Amino acid sequence: MSIALDYKKMGGLVPAIIQDERTQNVLMLGYMNEEALAQTLETGLVTFYSRSKQRLWVKGETSGNYLELVKWQKDCDHDALLIRVNPKGNTCHKGTGTCFGTANNSKFDLNYLATIINDRKNNAHSESYTAQLLEKGINKVAQKVGEEAVELIIEAKDDNKKLFLGEAADLLYHYLVLLAAKDYSLDEVLAVLEQRHQ
Ligand code: AMP
Ligand code: ZN
Ligand code: ZN
Ligand code: ZN
Repeated sequence: MSIALDYKKMGGLVPAIIQDERTQNVLMLGYMNEEALAQTLETGLVTFYSRSKQRLWVKGETSGNYLELVKWQKDCDHDALLIRVNPKGNTCHKGTGTCFGTANNSKFDLNYLATIINDRKNNAHSESYTAQLLEKGINKVAQKVGEEAVELIIEAKDDNKKLFLGEAADLLYHYLVLLAAKDYSLDEVLAVLEQRHQ
């Protein structure tokens, strides 16, 4: 079924683009031979063939900054790999998250915000608005979603972009707080939408 990689054409080494599954950041580029890919699939930890060390190199073997395999795919003509990972710590040995600068894609997305909200829920943050709102219970949180939706409706009738975006942000934020209060995740909502899409 699956055609093997074209190692012969590539002189035994195939480039592997490493992408963070959550943030979608491209983290680094490494090379894999057949053995490195086999070991990666077997152990679940990204393993390259290091051209400088001239041996298999488990990324993170000394730093502890391993790359946990999430999923992988070959490109159209089987001479390159795209590997999605869950990075444990900074990927670049120079101390940054990615080898291409700090980040080539802002990590501030809805999932990241949801992570922060869950942190406010699960750890003591007495000064946090989120923690205080969650303390008031699900009914209060749900009511806030309703209020923010009404405020957004009101701003939709006007032409003030700044106010509209502000209310749009309030609604998204309170929506995520409600999901957290219910112990449901954004991914579960997205799974429902994905199913409907098919
Ligand atoms: P590590 O695999 O993270 O334990 O790092 C071991 C060694 O591999 C480092 O000292 C670097 O020489 C090299 N190295 C680690 N990460 C990278 C990277 N992202 N790009 C290039 N070389 C790396
Ligand atoms: Zn190709
Ligand atoms: Zn680097
Ligand atoms: Zn508002």
